Amino acid sequence: MPLRTPCQATDSPETEWRKIVSSIPESCLAALSETVAGNAAELADLFYQFMLGHPQAKAFLDHNVVQQRLHASMRRWLVEIFRHPQLDETAIVALQRHVGEVHARIQLPIFLVARGARLLKQEVARALEAKFDDPRLLAQTIACSGQLMDLALELMSTSYERNSQRGARNDEAYRLFSIGQNFAVERERQRAVLLEWVQEILFTLHRPSAWASLPSLGKSEFGLWFTHKAPAIFDGDNEMEQVQSIIERVDSSVLPLLRVPPLLQLRPLAEMIMGLQFEIDSIKFLLTTLFERHQESENGRDVLTRLLNRRFLPSVMNREIHLAQTRHTGFALLLLDLDHFKRVNDEHGHDAGDLVLQQSAALLMSCVRNGDFIFRFGGEELLVMLVEVNTESALRIAELVRQKFETTQLLIGQGRVVQISVSIGVALYDGHPDHQYLIKKADEAMYSAKQQGRNRVALATGVEFDPAGV
Ligand code: GH3
Ligand code: MG
Ligand code: MG
Repeated sequence: MPLRTPCQATDSPETEWRKIVSSIPESCLAALSETVAGNAAELADLFYQFMLGHPQAKAFLDHNVVQQRLHASMRRWLVEIFRHPQLDETAIVALQRHVGEVHARIQLPIFLVARGARLLKQEVARALEAKFDDPRLLAQTIACSGQLMDLALELMSTSYERNSQRGARNDEAYRLFSIGQNFAVERERQRAVLLEWVQEILFTLHRPSAWASLPSLGKSEFGLWFTHKAPAIFDGDNEMEQVQSIIERVDSSVLPLLRVPPLLQLRPLAEMIMGLQFEIDSIKFLLTTLFERHQESENGRDVLTRLLNRRFLPSVMNREIHLAQTRHTGFALLLLDLDHFKRVNDEHGHDAGDLVLQQSAALLMSCVRNGDFIFRFGGEELLVMLVEVNTESALRIAELVRQKFETTQLLIGQGRVVQISVSIGVALYDGHPDHQYLIKKADEAMYSAKQQGRNRVALATGVEFDPAGV
Protein backbone atom coordinates (compact mmCIF):
# COMPACT_ATOMS: atom_id res chain seq x y z
CA MET A 1 0.00 0.00 0.00
CA PRO A 2 1.40 3.45 -0.91
CA LEU A 3 2.11 6.02 1.77
CA ARG A 4 -0.93 8.05 2.75
CA THR A 5 1.02 11.26 2.22
CA PRO A 6 3.94 10.62 -0.10
CA CYS A 7 7.20 12.36 0.74
CA GLN A 8 8.19 15.27 -1.49
CA ALA A 9 11.72 16.17 -2.50
CA THR A 10 11.22 19.55 -0.86
CA ASP A 11 10.11 18.13 2.47
CA SER A 12 12.29 18.89 5.44
CA PRO A 13 13.69 15.80 7.15
CA GLU A 14 11.34 16.46 10.06
CA THR A 15 8.33 16.42 7.75
CA GLU A 16 9.56 13.28 6.04
CA TRP A 17 9.98 11.61 9.37
CA ARG A 18 6.46 12.53 10.35
CA LYS A 19 5.03 11.33 7.05
CA ILE A 20 6.79 7.98 7.26
CA VAL A 21 5.58 7.44 10.80
CA SER A 22 2.02 8.34 9.92
CA SER A 23 2.01 5.96 6.96
CA ILE A 24 1.06 2.97 9.11
CA PRO A 25 -1.70 2.43 11.65
CA GLU A 26 -1.12 3.28 15.29
CA SER A 27 -1.33 -0.37 16.29
CA CYS A 28 1.55 -1.21 13.92
CA LEU A 29 3.66 1.63 15.30
CA ALA A 30 3.06 0.35 18.78
CA ALA A 31 4.03 -3.18 17.75
CA LEU A 32 7.17 -1.89 16.02
CA SER A 33 8.17 0.17 19.02
CA GLU A 34 7.55 -2.71 21.40
CA THR A 35 9.43 -5.21 19.23
CA VAL A 36 12.50 -3.04 18.91
CA ALA A 37 12.54 -2.01 22.56
CA GLY A 38 12.14 -5.65 23.59
CA ASN A 39 14.96 -6.79 21.34
CA ALA A 40 17.26 -3.77 21.64
CA ALA A 41 19.94 -5.58 23.63
CA GLU A 42 20.05 -8.54 21.22
CA LEU A 43 20.11 -6.20 18.23
CA ALA A 44 23.00 -4.23 19.69
CA ASP A 45 24.84 -7.49 20.47
CA LEU A 46 24.41 -8.67 16.95
CA PHE A 47 25.53 -5.36 15.54
CA TYR A 48 28.76 -5.37 17.55
CA GLN A 49 29.47 -9.02 16.92
CA PHE A 50 29.22 -8.32 13.26
CA MET A 51 31.26 -5.11 13.42
CA LEU A 52 34.01 -6.65 15.53
CA GLY A 53 34.31 -9.43 12.98
CA HIS A 54 35.04 -6.84 10.33
CA PRO A 55 38.77 -6.02 10.29
CA GLN A 56 38.29 -2.35 9.38
CA ALA A 57 35.51 -1.76 11.87
CA LYS A 58 37.43 -3.51 14.61
CA ALA A 59 40.09 -0.79 14.58
CA PHE A 60 37.46 1.75 15.62
CA LEU A 61 35.72 -0.32 18.21
CA ASP A 62 38.53 -2.16 19.88
CA HIS A 63 38.44 -0.26 23.09
CA ASN A 64 36.46 -1.27 26.11
CA VAL A 65 35.15 2.25 26.76
CA VAL A 66 33.93 2.44 23.19
CA GLN A 67 32.33 -0.96 23.40
CA GLN A 68 30.53 -0.34 26.67
CA ARG A 69 29.33 3.10 25.74
CA LEU A 70 28.50 2.21 22.18
CA HIS A 71 26.47 -0.76 23.13
CA ALA A 72 24.37 1.45 25.36
CA SER A 73 24.17 4.20 22.73
CA MET A 74 23.14 1.75 20.05
CA ARG A 75 20.34 0.40 22.22
CA ARG A 76 19.21 3.93 22.98
CA TRP A 77 19.37 4.92 19.34
CA LEU A 78 17.19 1.98 18.30
CA VAL A 79 14.63 2.66 20.99
CA GLU A 80 14.50 6.40 20.15
CA ILE A 81 13.97 6.08 16.43
CA PHE A 82 11.09 3.65 16.86
CA ARG A 83 9.60 5.10 20.02
CA HIS A 84 5.84 5.30 20.12
CA PRO A 85 4.40 7.79 20.71
CA GLN A 86 7.29 9.40 18.97
CA LEU A 87 9.86 11.87 20.26
CA ASP A 88 9.46 15.19 18.52
CA GLU A 89 10.95 15.07 15.02
CA THR A 90 13.35 17.93 15.62
CA ALA A 91 15.02 15.97 18.41
CA ILE A 92 15.16 12.79 16.32
CA VAL A 93 16.72 14.61 13.36
CA ALA A 94 19.19 16.42 15.62
CA LEU A 95 20.21 13.08 17.16
CA GLN A 96 20.98 11.54 13.75
CA ARG A 97 23.06 14.57 12.80
CA HIS A 98 24.95 14.38 16.04
CA VAL A 99 25.74 10.71 15.49
CA GLY A 100 27.03 11.55 11.99
CA GLU A 101 29.21 14.25 13.50
CA VAL A 102 30.74 11.82 15.99
CA HIS A 103 31.35 9.29 13.21
CA ALA A 104 33.14 11.97 11.19
CA ARG A 105 35.27 12.92 14.17
CA ILE A 106 36.59 9.42 14.59
CA GLN A 107 36.63 8.99 10.80
CA LEU A 108 34.53 5.86 10.90
CA PRO A 109 34.01 4.91 7.25
CA ILE A 110 30.41 5.52 6.26
CA PHE A 111 30.12 2.21 4.38
CA LEU A 112 30.62 0.38 7.66
CA VAL A 113 27.73 2.24 9.23
CA ALA A 114 25.60 1.43 6.20
CA ARG A 115 26.51 -2.24 6.50
CA GLY A 116 25.59 -2.28 10.16
CA ALA A 117 22.28 -0.59 9.39
CA ARG A 118 21.51 -3.18 6.72
CA LEU A 119 22.01 -5.91 9.26
CA LEU A 120 19.76 -4.17 11.79
CA LYS A 121 17.03 -3.72 9.19
CA GLN A 122 17.02 -7.45 8.47
CA GLU A 123 16.89 -8.32 12.13
CA VAL A 124 14.09 -5.88 12.92
CA ALA A 125 12.11 -7.34 10.02
CA ARG A 126 12.70 -10.85 11.32
CA ALA A 127 11.60 -9.90 14.84
CA LEU A 128 8.45 -8.26 13.47
CA GLU A 129 7.37 -11.40 11.65
CA ALA A 130 6.44 -13.10 14.90
CA LYS A 131 4.21 -10.19 15.88
CA PHE A 132 1.80 -10.02 12.97
CA ASP A 133 -0.89 -12.32 11.66
CA ASP A 134 -1.91 -10.06 8.83
CA PRO A 135 0.80 -10.18 6.11
CA ARG A 136 -0.32 -6.83 4.68
CA LEU A 137 0.19 -5.03 8.00
CA LEU A 138 3.49 -6.84 8.47
CA ALA A 139 4.71 -5.68 5.07
CA GLN A 140 3.67 -2.09 5.81
CA THR A 141 5.39 -2.12 9.17
CA ILE A 142 8.61 -3.58 7.77
CA ALA A 143 8.58 -0.97 5.01
CA CYS A 144 8.07 1.81 7.54
CA SER A 145 10.89 0.60 9.81
CA GLY A 146 13.21 0.31 6.79
CA GLN A 147 12.39 3.84 5.68
CA LEU A 148 13.00 5.28 9.13
CA MET A 149 16.41 3.63 9.28
CA ASP A 150 17.24 4.81 5.79
CA LEU A 151 16.28 8.36 6.65
CA ALA A 152 18.33 8.19 9.85
CA LEU A 153 21.31 6.99 7.83
CA GLU A 154 20.80 9.69 5.23
CA LEU A 155 20.81 12.38 7.93
CA MET A 156 23.93 10.90 9.50
CA SER A 157 25.68 10.86 6.13
CA THR A 158 24.91 14.51 5.41
CA SER A 159 26.28 15.63 8.70
CA TYR A 160 29.19 13.19 8.34
CA GLU A 161 30.10 14.67 5.00
CA ARG A 162 29.87 18.25 6.21
CA ASN A 163 32.00 17.49 9.23
CA SER A 164 34.63 15.50 7.42
CA GLN A 165 34.94 18.24 4.82
CA ARG A 166 35.57 20.72 7.59
CA GLY A 167 38.15 18.37 9.08
CA ALA A 168 39.76 17.90 5.70
CA ARG A 169 40.01 21.64 5.20
CA ASN A 170 41.76 22.00 8.51
CA ASP A 171 44.01 19.07 7.64
CA GLU A 172 44.90 20.78 4.41
CA ALA A 173 45.46 24.12 6.11
CA TYR A 174 47.66 22.30 8.56
CA ARG A 175 49.52 20.58 5.77
CA LEU A 176 50.14 23.90 4.06
CA PHE A 177 51.24 25.33 7.34
CA SER A 178 53.57 22.47 8.13
CA ILE A 179 55.27 22.47 4.75
CA GLY A 180 55.93 26.15 5.25
CA GLN A 181 53.54 27.40 2.60
CA ASN A 182 53.43 31.13 2.95
CA PHE A 183 50.10 32.74 2.16
CA ALA A 184 51.53 36.21 1.65
CA VAL A 185 53.99 34.84 -0.91
CA GLU A 186 51.23 32.84 -2.59
CA ARG A 187 49.04 35.91 -2.80
CA GLU A 188 51.78 37.97 -4.44
CA ARG A 189 52.60 35.16 -6.84
CA GLN A 190 48.99 34.86 -7.98
CA ARG A 191 48.62 38.61 -8.37
CA ALA A 192 51.79 38.59 -10.46
CA VAL A 193 50.64 35.79 -12.78
CA LEU A 194 47.29 37.53 -13.21
CA LEU A 195 49.07 40.73 -14.22
CA GLU A 196 51.33 38.79 -16.57
CA TRP A 197 48.24 37.54 -18.33
CA VAL A 198 46.91 41.11 -18.66
CA GLN A 199 50.26 42.20 -20.09
CA GLU A 200 50.21 39.37 -22.58
CA ILE A 201 46.77 40.51 -23.71
CA LEU A 202 47.98 44.08 -24.12
CA PHE A 203 51.11 43.03 -26.05
CA THR A 204 49.06 40.78 -28.29
CA LEU A 205 46.68 43.62 -29.04
CA HIS A 206 49.66 45.57 -30.37
CA ARG A 207 50.25 42.85 -32.97
CA PRO A 208 47.00 42.94 -34.90
CA SER A 209 47.74 39.71 -36.76
CA ALA A 210 47.75 37.87 -33.41
CA TRP A 211 44.43 39.26 -32.15
CA ALA A 212 42.54 36.12 -32.90
CA SER A 213 44.81 34.17 -30.57
CA LEU A 214 44.30 36.18 -27.38
CA PRO A 215 44.91 33.66 -24.58
CA SER A 216 41.97 32.74 -22.37
CA LEU A 217 41.99 33.63 -18.69
CA GLY A 218 40.59 30.28 -17.58
CA LYS A 219 43.48 28.42 -19.17
CA SER A 220 46.11 30.91 -18.03
CA GLU A 221 48.45 30.10 -15.20
CA PHE A 222 46.26 32.12 -12.87
CA GLY A 223 43.07 30.46 -14.13
CA LEU A 224 44.49 26.98 -13.63
CA TRP A 225 45.71 27.79 -10.15
CA PHE A 226 42.36 29.27 -9.29
CA THR A 227 40.37 26.30 -10.52
CA HIS A 228 42.57 23.57 -9.14
CA LYS A 229 44.48 24.85 -6.15
CA ALA A 230 42.49 27.70 -4.69
CA PRO A 231 39.52 25.53 -3.64
CA ALA A 232 41.78 23.67 -1.21
CA ILE A 233 42.44 26.94 0.56
CA PHE A 234 39.24 28.92 0.14
CA ASP A 235 36.67 26.17 -0.25
CA GLY A 236 33.16 27.38 0.41
CA ASP A 237 33.85 31.12 0.45
CA ASN A 238 31.42 33.26 -1.57
CA GLU A 239 34.19 35.15 -3.30
CA MET A 240 35.35 31.93 -4.96
CA GLU A 241 32.19 31.77 -7.03
CA GLN A 242 32.40 35.44 -7.86
CA VAL A 243 35.96 35.11 -9.14
CA GLN A 244 35.01 32.01 -11.10
CA SER A 245 32.14 33.82 -12.79
CA ILE A 246 34.35 36.80 -13.68
CA ILE A 247 36.85 34.41 -15.27
CA GLU A 248 34.04 32.85 -17.28
CA ARG A 249 32.66 36.25 -18.28
CA VAL A 250 36.07 37.43 -19.45
CA ASP A 251 36.49 34.29 -21.55
CA SER A 252 32.99 34.17 -22.94
CA SER A 253 32.13 37.85 -23.43
CA VAL A 254 35.12 40.19 -23.15
CA LEU A 255 37.76 38.26 -25.10
CA PRO A 256 35.55 37.29 -28.07
CA LEU A 257 34.87 41.02 -28.66
CA LEU A 258 38.59 41.80 -28.56
CA ARG A 259 39.38 38.95 -30.94
CA VAL A 260 37.38 40.60 -33.73
CA PRO A 261 39.75 42.23 -36.33
CA PRO A 262 40.30 45.95 -35.59
CA LEU A 263 38.32 47.24 -38.57
CA LEU A 264 35.27 45.26 -37.60
CA GLN A 265 35.29 46.33 -33.96
CA LEU A 266 31.98 47.75 -32.87
CA ARG A 267 33.30 49.53 -29.80
CA PRO A 268 36.46 51.60 -29.30
CA LEU A 269 39.41 49.48 -28.21
CA ALA A 270 40.17 51.75 -25.21
CA GLU A 271 36.66 51.20 -23.91
CA MET A 272 36.96 47.42 -24.19
CA ILE A 273 40.33 47.44 -22.47
CA MET A 274 38.88 49.50 -19.65
CA GLY A 275 36.11 46.93 -19.36
CA LEU A 276 38.72 44.20 -19.06
CA GLN A 277 40.66 46.23 -16.52
CA PHE A 278 37.53 46.58 -14.44
CA GLU A 279 37.05 42.81 -14.36
CA ILE A 280 40.70 42.24 -13.43
CA ASP A 281 40.50 44.83 -10.65
CA SER A 282 37.47 43.02 -9.27
CA ILE A 283 39.38 39.73 -9.25
CA LYS A 284 42.28 41.40 -7.45
CA PHE A 285 39.94 42.84 -4.86
CA LEU A 286 38.21 39.51 -4.28
CA LEU A 287 41.56 37.71 -4.04
CA THR A 288 42.75 40.15 -1.39
CA THR A 289 39.59 39.53 0.59
CA LEU A 290 40.02 35.77 0.31
CA PHE A 291 43.66 35.79 1.31
CA GLU A 292 43.11 38.18 4.17
CA ARG A 293 40.37 36.04 5.58
CA HIS A 294 42.66 33.05 5.53
CA GLN A 295 45.64 34.96 6.85
CA GLU A 296 45.21 33.12 10.11
CA SER A 297 46.21 29.94 8.32
CA GLU A 298 49.35 31.62 7.07
CA ASN A 299 51.25 30.96 10.21
CA GLY A 300 48.75 28.75 12.00
CA ARG A 301 49.75 30.41 15.21
CA ASP A 302 47.91 32.28 17.85
CA VAL A 303 48.72 35.96 17.45
CA LEU A 304 49.41 36.69 21.12
CA THR A 305 51.34 33.63 22.26
CA ARG A 306 52.69 32.35 18.93
CA LEU A 307 51.49 28.91 19.99
CA LEU A 308 49.66 26.61 17.59
CA ASN A 309 46.13 27.55 16.80
CA ARG A 310 43.51 25.40 18.45
CA ARG A 311 41.78 24.58 15.18
CA PHE A 312 44.75 22.41 14.20
CA LEU A 313 44.25 20.29 17.27
CA PRO A 314 41.99 17.68 15.60
CA SER A 315 44.39 17.32 12.66
CA VAL A 316 47.43 16.93 14.87
CA MET A 317 45.71 14.60 17.32
CA ASN A 318 44.14 12.42 14.65
CA ARG A 319 47.53 11.98 13.07
CA GLU A 320 49.07 11.13 16.41
CA ILE A 321 46.26 8.67 17.20
CA HIS A 322 46.89 7.01 13.87
CA LEU A 323 50.63 6.84 14.59
CA ALA A 324 49.96 5.44 18.04
CA GLN A 325 47.67 2.78 16.56
CA THR A 326 50.11 1.73 13.90
CA ARG A 327 53.39 2.06 15.77
CA HIS A 328 52.06 1.26 19.22
CA THR A 329 53.58 4.35 20.76
CA GLY A 330 51.88 6.44 23.39
CA PHE A 331 51.29 10.13 23.75
CA ALA A 332 49.87 12.41 26.41
CA LEU A 333 48.00 15.65 26.80
CA LEU A 334 48.82 18.21 29.46
CA LEU A 335 46.11 20.78 29.92
CA LEU A 336 47.39 23.81 31.81
CA ASP A 337 45.30 26.53 33.31
CA LEU A 338 46.91 29.56 34.91
CA ASP A 339 45.77 29.92 38.50
CA HIS A 340 43.84 33.05 39.48
CA PHE A 341 44.82 34.67 36.25
CA LYS A 342 41.90 37.04 36.47
CA ARG A 343 43.64 38.71 39.40
CA VAL A 344 46.58 39.67 37.19
CA ASN A 345 44.20 41.42 34.83
CA ASP A 346 42.28 43.02 37.67
CA GLU A 347 45.31 44.20 39.60
CA HIS A 348 47.73 45.09 36.82
CA GLY A 349 45.61 45.55 33.72
CA HIS A 350 44.91 43.56 30.60
CA ASP A 351 48.25 44.40 28.97
CA ALA A 352 50.06 42.90 31.94
CA GLY A 353 47.84 39.82 31.55
CA ASP A 354 48.87 39.58 27.92
CA LEU A 355 52.53 39.76 28.87
CA VAL A 356 52.04 36.97 31.39
CA LEU A 357 50.40 34.83 28.73
CA GLN A 358 53.24 35.43 26.30
CA GLN A 359 55.87 34.56 28.86
CA SER A 360 53.92 31.52 30.00
CA ALA A 361 53.97 30.23 26.44
CA ALA A 362 57.73 30.78 26.23
CA LEU A 363 58.25 29.13 29.60
CA LEU A 364 56.26 26.13 28.50
CA MET A 365 58.23 25.87 25.28
CA SER A 366 61.43 25.73 27.25
CA CYS A 367 60.14 22.68 29.16
CA VAL A 368 59.15 20.44 26.25
CA ARG A 369 60.94 18.83 23.35
CA ASN A 370 61.06 19.82 19.72
CA GLY A 371 58.70 17.08 18.65
CA ASP A 372 55.98 18.06 21.14
CA PHE A 373 53.11 20.37 20.23
CA ILE A 374 51.80 23.32 22.21
CA PHE A 375 48.41 24.86 21.49
CA ARG A 376 46.66 27.86 22.89
CA PHE A 377 43.58 26.00 23.98
CA GLY A 378 41.52 28.86 25.35
CA GLY A 379 42.01 32.25 27.02
CA GLU A 380 44.54 31.26 29.67
CA GLU A 381 44.54 27.55 28.96
CA LEU A 382 47.42 25.96 27.14
CA LEU A 383 47.51 22.42 25.86
CA VAL A 384 50.65 20.37 25.35
CA MET A 385 50.75 17.17 23.36
CA LEU A 386 53.76 15.15 24.44
CA VAL A 387 54.70 12.55 21.87
CA GLU A 388 56.13 9.12 22.65
CA VAL A 389 55.78 9.24 26.41
CA ASN A 390 54.47 6.91 29.06
CA THR A 391 52.60 7.89 32.20
CA GLU A 392 55.77 8.26 34.22
CA SER A 393 57.54 10.59 31.82
CA ALA A 394 54.40 12.60 31.13
CA LEU A 395 53.94 13.18 34.86
CA ARG A 396 57.61 14.06 35.26
CA ILE A 397 57.40 16.69 32.52
CA ALA A 398 54.15 18.04 33.97
CA GLU A 399 55.76 18.37 37.39
CA LEU A 400 58.75 20.11 35.84
CA VAL A 401 56.42 22.60 34.17
CA ARG A 402 54.56 23.20 37.41
CA GLN A 403 57.79 23.89 39.30
CA LYS A 404 59.09 26.13 36.56
CA PHE A 405 55.98 28.33 36.82
CA GLU A 406 56.14 28.31 40.61
CA THR A 407 59.70 29.55 40.63
CA THR A 408 59.77 32.00 37.73
CA GLN A 409 59.05 35.68 37.99
CA LEU A 410 57.21 37.05 35.01
CA LEU A 411 57.75 40.63 33.89
CA ILE A 412 54.71 42.85 33.50
CA GLY A 413 56.36 46.13 32.53
CA GLN A 414 57.77 49.10 34.44
CA GLY A 415 59.98 46.81 36.45
CA ARG A 416 57.05 44.99 38.00
CA VAL A 417 56.92 41.20 38.25
CA VAL A 418 54.30 38.61 39.12
CA GLN A 419 54.45 34.99 39.98
CA ILE A 420 51.76 32.66 38.81
CA SER A 421 51.13 29.00 39.42
CA VAL A 422 49.49 26.51 37.11
CA SER A 423 47.12 23.59 37.51
CA ILE A 424 47.81 20.76 35.11
CA GLY A 425 45.63 17.85 34.00
CA VAL A 426 47.45 14.92 32.44
CA ALA A 427 45.80 12.30 30.22
CA LEU A 428 47.52 9.42 28.47
CA TYR A 429 46.30 8.08 25.14
CA ASP A 430 44.56 4.81 25.93
CA GLY A 431 43.44 3.58 22.55
CA HIS A 432 40.21 5.54 22.28
CA PRO A 433 39.81 6.73 18.69
CA ASP A 434 37.99 9.99 19.47
CA HIS A 435 40.41 12.83 20.21
CA GLN A 436 37.74 14.67 22.17
CA TYR A 437 37.63 11.83 24.62
CA LEU A 438 41.25 12.43 25.59
CA ILE A 439 40.81 16.19 25.76
CA LYS A 440 37.84 15.65 28.04
CA LYS A 441 39.94 13.42 30.27
CA ALA A 442 42.70 16.03 30.49
CA ASP A 443 40.11 18.70 31.25
CA GLU A 444 38.57 16.63 34.05
CA ALA A 445 42.01 16.07 35.53
CA MET A 446 42.82 19.77 35.35
CA TYR A 447 39.56 20.55 37.08
CA SER A 448 40.40 18.11 39.82
CA ALA A 449 43.83 19.77 40.25
CA LYS A 450 41.96 23.06 40.76
CA GLN A 451 39.61 21.44 43.24
CA GLN A 452 42.51 20.07 45.25
CA GLY A 453 43.88 23.57 45.77
CA ARG A 454 45.62 24.57 42.48
CA ASN A 455 49.37 24.63 41.74
CA ARG A 456 49.41 20.90 41.20
CA VAL A 457 49.41 18.11 38.66
CA ALA A 458 46.54 15.61 38.44
CA LEU A 459 46.44 12.46 36.40
CA ALA A 460 43.21 11.58 34.63
CA THR A 461 41.32 8.55 35.75
CA GLY A 462 38.54 6.92 33.76
CA VAL A 463 35.95 9.55 33.02
CA GLU A 464 32.39 9.29 31.95
CA PHE A 465 32.24 10.13 28.31
CA ASP A 466 29.18 9.83 26.21
CA PRO A 467 29.97 9.67 22.54
CA ALA A 468 26.18 9.63 21.99
CA GLY A 469 25.90 6.76 19.70
CA VAL A 470 29.20 6.50 17.83
P1 GH3 B 1 41.29 29.72 38.14
O1 GH3 B 1 42.45 29.53 39.05
O2 GH3 B 1 40.05 29.08 38.64
O3 GH3 B 1 41.59 29.29 36.74
O4 GH3 B 1 41.00 31.29 38.12
P2 GH3 B 1 41.15 32.26 36.91
O5 GH3 B 1 41.01 33.64 37.42
O6 GH3 B 1 42.39 31.98 36.15
O7 GH3 B 1 39.98 31.77 35.97
P3 GH3 B 1 38.89 32.47 35.16
O8 GH3 B 1 38.48 31.49 34.12
O9 GH3 B 1 37.82 33.00 36.06
O10 GH3 B 1 39.57 33.69 34.46
C1 GH3 B 1 40.32 33.59 33.32
C2 GH3 B 1 40.58 35.00 32.86
O11 GH3 B 1 41.48 35.00 31.75
C3 GH3 B 1 39.36 35.70 32.37
C4 GH3 B 1 39.78 36.44 31.15
O12 GH3 B 1 39.51 37.79 31.24
C5 GH3 B 1 41.28 36.23 31.08
N1 GH3 B 1 41.78 36.13 29.74
C6 GH3 B 1 41.43 35.25 28.78
N2 GH3 B 1 42.10 35.48 27.65
C7 GH3 B 1 42.92 36.53 27.88
C8 GH3 B 1 43.88 37.25 27.08
O13 GH3 B 1 44.11 36.95 25.92
N3 GH3 B 1 44.53 38.28 27.66
C9 GH3 B 1 44.29 38.64 28.96
N4 GH3 B 1 44.97 39.64 29.45
N5 GH3 B 1 43.38 38.00 29.73
C10 GH3 B 1 42.71 36.97 29.20
MG1 MG C 1 40.47 28.90 32.61
MG1 MG D 1 42.70 30.11 35.27
